[in-house]
Amino acid sequence: MSTARLHYDDPLLLTFDAAVVAHARFGDRPSVVLDRTAFYPESGGQLGDEGTLDGRPVLDVQVDDAGVVHHLVDGEAPPVGATVHGAIERTRRRLHMALHTGQHMLSRALLDEARAETVSSRLGATACTIDVHLASLDEAAVARAEDLVNRVIEDDVTVRQYFPTPDELATLPLRRAPKVTENIRVVDVGGFDVSPCGGTHCTRSSQVGLVTITGLERYKGKMRVTFLAGRVAQRELGARSKSLVDLARGFSCGPLDVHHGVERLRAELTATRDALGVARAQWATLYARALLDDAKRAGSQRVACVLDDATVDTLRALAVEITAQPGTVAMLASRSAEGLQVMLARGAGSAFDCGAWLKAATASHGGRGGGRADRAEGRLPATVDWAAITAD
Ligand SMILES: [Zn+2]
Repeated sequence: MSTARLHYDDPLLLTFDAAVVAHARFGDRPSVVLDRTAFYPESGGQLGDEGTLDGRPVLDVQVDDAGVVHHLVDGEAPPVGATVHGAIERTRRRLHMALHTGQHMLSRALLDEARAETVSSRLGATACTIDVHLASLDEAAVARAEDLVNRVIEDDVTVRQYFPTPDELATLPLRRAPKVTENIRVVDVGGFDVSPCGGTHCTRSSQVGLVTITGLERYKGKMRVTFLAGRVAQRELGARSKSLVDLARGFSCGPLDVHHGVERLRAELTATRDALGVARAQWATLYARALLDDAKRAGSQRVACVLDDATVDTLRALAVEITAQPGTVAMLASRSAEGLQVMLARGAGSAFDCGAWLKAATASHGGRGGGRADRAEGRLPATVDWAAITAD
């Protein structure tokens, strides 16, 4: 026999007494069956309640095809025939009610403001998603939909949840067709939205508190709207606000002026990068000239050097300057804690094979890298003596 569901008539009911009618199983887990329950079992995209039965934690609540509600209790089950006291965990239930009611309202508002029909919705533990049939959504229309929902919340309308008679049902302006054929339950948010639904909802729209849209993305050819409601919406907006205030403190400005600070930093970064590029090129010209002079004095066309913590860009700039001289070979390395970043390049007319040389070096000393005859890059262990292995 199906379990009497107290939450249908009173979603605010958080404690109740009931008789244990059976010990059963749901899947491979033992369960407790009561004659009546205020626990909402996971169904219709809404997670089940948590709470206690005579102080024993209820970890999950499920319903089978026969309408029997299974309470999955941690520890020993209360005996059949006993009267037990059930208590629903309030925070989780109230959040689910706010999210679920918010979902109905937002689905309606998206239809009104963006002509976007809800094809599916998912109520997670902390956030919800609504997938609509459109491949794109106008952000301004979505913002209007969010605003509309919050106005209905402010209007504090009554949310009526009931089982209409078939005749009554036929006259109702349902937003979508029911998923079941009998015992159809309807949720009417003050006439704003009328939908069939078996879940738990707030009894007045003001209990939703706030609906805030946190994401809008393409998903499998449709659009997915992610939103928060109730206390989690307040907490999320509070956390975002605090993060912005902390950032603003770093910029010595107000929270709403942070973007100016970021733009300023970005402009400074671009200018600094440009200046660094110019300075690097000038340095490379001068340093290459000095290295080429040393090599010439030693009667060699190999120009080898090792720099401390030089960037790849620096090595590249130096290689370009050195190999501008025909017949030269640039053998450059940057030493850091991780090892030697090496770069080899040759000038026009040189027969030196950069790739083959580096391959032989990694074969002897370890490391990795490779390249063509005219240019090669790689990494060697920090213990390698660069001056010794690059000597003629
Ligand atoms: Zn619902």
